[in-house]
Amino acid sequence: MSIHDTESSSRKVDLRTLSHEQLVDLMEQLGYPKFRAKQVEDWVWKHNVSDFQEMTNVPAALRADLSARCTLGGTSEVARQVSSDGSRKYLLRYSDGTQAECVGMPTRNRLAVCVSTQAGCRMGCVFCATGQGGFTRSLKATEIYDQVMHVSKDFQTRASSVVMMGQGEPFNNYDEVIKALRMLNSPEGAGIGARHLTVSTCGVIPMIRRFSKEPEQFTLAVSLHSAIQSTRNAIMPGVKKYTLQRLHDVMGEYVEATGRRPTYEYALIGGVNDNNAELEALCDFTRGTLAHVNLIQLNDLEDSRLKPSTQERAELFVRRLAQVGVEATIRNSRGNDIDAACGQLSQKHQE
Ligand code: SAH
Ligand code: SF4
Repeated sequence: MSIHDTESSSRKVDLRTLSHEQLVDLMEQLGYPKFRAKQVEDWVWKHNVSDFQEMTNVPAALRADLSARCTLGGTSEVARQVSSDGSRKYLLRYSDGTQAECVGMPTRNRLAVCVSTQAGCRMGCVFCATGQGGFTRSLKATEIYDQVMHVSKDFQTRASSVVMMGQGEPFNNYDEVIKALRMLNSPEGAGIGARHLTVSTCGVIPMIRRFSKEPEQFTLAVSLHSAIQSTRNAIMPGVKKYTLQRLHDVMGEYVEATGRRPTYEYALIGGVNDNNAELEALCDFTRGTLAHVNLIQLNDLEDSRLKPSTQERAELFVRRLAQVGVEATIRNSRGNDIDAACGQLSQKHQE
């Protein structure tokens, strides 16, 4: 590429960053009718095209005008791994070189997509590859949205649900996360029902409160991992200031305000949070709430002293929780053979 090319492309604006009104203005400036904005948006947000030439119902002259002035984002695939269970994990790179990962998990005719909300994470959970890997930056709403579209395009099917359980803490990037959820929910965008859009947080209390006031019925999951304060402080140092008592209270407010059932994520770590005292504390924390508990066997990290618990302990947790009226399931960890645990693929590519 010549220097001239580089200079002209650096002045181009990413069309994905324009609001609907800005795009309509651009159409008017270029002398095209307003409805062309909607057509272009359909190609961008519904069909995830990466080239203006793919916009077949848009006049060639407009395609040329747009490509002279705009780019179409710059997400490229750095790596892709396919698991024996059918799930696929991707490492994507944005135009500034920042990388983020996402996973597609197909079941029969449905496709669940797991996305990252930040490159890295500031919370430092000791069992999490992302938490141990430092923080680069928060992702923009369009960058989160693009992960879903990338996976959906690769599977050639629409995404039926999205979980924000990749890298990063969504509630440390609240505004962009809400924007992304709205784009995913919108019939103009991916058109996924709000209940099928799940945010997972390590427990950032002010944002849980804010989330409970959002009008849409988005789903909330909270990473609990221990209901004993000293254990939780040790394994999740980033949320020390949000105590379990306060978390319990705010979750009560959440259920009251929304009537929705929250999920607690609990990764069983052998000898750390799987003993009887931990189990009783978990029963006390969840008893009488609407909550559902998801027990996950810890994904083994290389070079970590932390190990998964046993299947027997997991089953004991389920039985004991049932005795106190709390529904719990053991979630099978998908994509184990493709480093699908939080942050592991991107870590390998940085090494
Ligand atoms: N930051 C958010 C969302 C991303 S992490 C949160 O913490 O909830 C998504 C989920 O993966 C969380 O429940 C997190 O605790 C869990 N997780 C992280 N590392 C894990 C590991 N090694 N094994 C099992 N679950 C893990
Ligand atoms: Fe961040 Fe979630 Fe990993 Fe904790 S578990 S370090 S909050 S991504």
